[in-house]
Amino acid sequence: MLVDRYGRVATDLRVSLTDRCNLRCTYCMPENGLAWLPGPDVLTDDEVVRLVRIAVERLGINEVRFTGGEPLLRRGLVDIVAACAALEPRPDLSLTTNAVGLARIAAALAAAGLDRVNGSLDTLRADRFEQLTRRKRLDDVLAGLAAADAAGLSPVKVNAVLMRDVNDDEAVDLLGWALGNGYELRFIEQMPLDAQHGWDRARMVTAGDILAALQRHYHLTPEASDHRGSAPAERWLVDGGPARVGIIASVTRPFCGTCDRTRLTADGQVRTCLFAREESDLRGAMRAGASDDELAQRWTTAMAGKAAGHGIDDPGFLQPDRPMSAIGG
Ligand code: SAM
Ligand code: SF4
Repeated sequence: MLVDRYGRVATDLRVSLTDRCNLRCTYCMPENGLAWLPGPDVLTDDEVVRLVRIAVERLGINEVRFTGGEPLLRRGLVDIVAACAALEPRPDLSLTTNAVGLARIAAALAAAGLDRVNGSLDTLRADRFEQLTRRKRLDDVLAGLAAADAAGLSPVKVNAVLMRDVNDDEAVDLLGWALGNGYELRFIEQMPLDAQHGWDRARMVTAGDILAALQRHYHLTPEASDHRGSAPAERWLVDGGPARVGIIASVTRPFCGTCDRTRLTADGQVRTCLFAREESDLRGAMRAGASDDELAQRWTTAMAGKAAGHGIDDPGFLQPDRPMSAIGG
């Protein structure tokens, strides 16, 4: 098992499949993109599957989420999903995606064994979408989410980040749209993980702000806390349910004490936290001939050093060197 010194057990693995992306969300990437990882540094499909297999077979991982960058840009995605779906015990498999191009591949992903999709969408207005992502792809995203739903990759969850004076007036509209489509909406507080270091605590839209805006239009009842477990989203039943809305308040209501995650970057580094400042190199060890046992041991050792919390509120807080897109959100 992957246990840290505070007794937390990681059972949920986030695998970044690429640091590249076809959007340029302002809270994530600069307009001209970033210096991408060199091709040879990126794990091959077989290397990804081997590390996931070790995590599932030897380390107790039962949930695997593929992310990026934009994971749909990874050519071998369907094959990677199929190989992971064949593992024993079979892990729960999901994908976090901006949904651009998802319409074309949703059915193939479902057939390969993907269980669910989390799409990201911060605005329903085409002009704002272009301003926020620096690309004109709103229709593509909407079609992608609909295709995921139609392919049975449901419940489709939609992540939205609100920013002050950009889209913070859309909380109610986004929820109405999600309810109308049968999607589960989750708002995520903006975190200091952008390459441009543009995050400003004083200007961030907090969980409290979002809740207050939603409550002006909807009756929200907190879901019983035993439903939350280690899930980062706090959830509310909307107008008595069964529809729900979630808020992931990583900044103002951190959930580090119940964190059950471990992360693998596209270049084969284990990270114990989004905000970790240290990584453990599995790619180098693997390419130098390490056995499955040795790789599992390295992962276990890395996990033991997981910090108690992300430390965003500590006076000495330093953003990690890698931005979100290169860690895997
Ligand atoms: N490209 C895919 C997507 O957008 O869903 C997967 C990677 S993206 C980094 C994963 C999630 O992180 C998205 O929902 C995105 O909105 C969120 N995200 C990116 N930067 C963030 C930030 N600085 N604070 C909070 N969430 C962020
Ligand atoms: Fe790309 Fe996702 Fe970052 Fe937007 S949030 S730039 S879609 S990686």
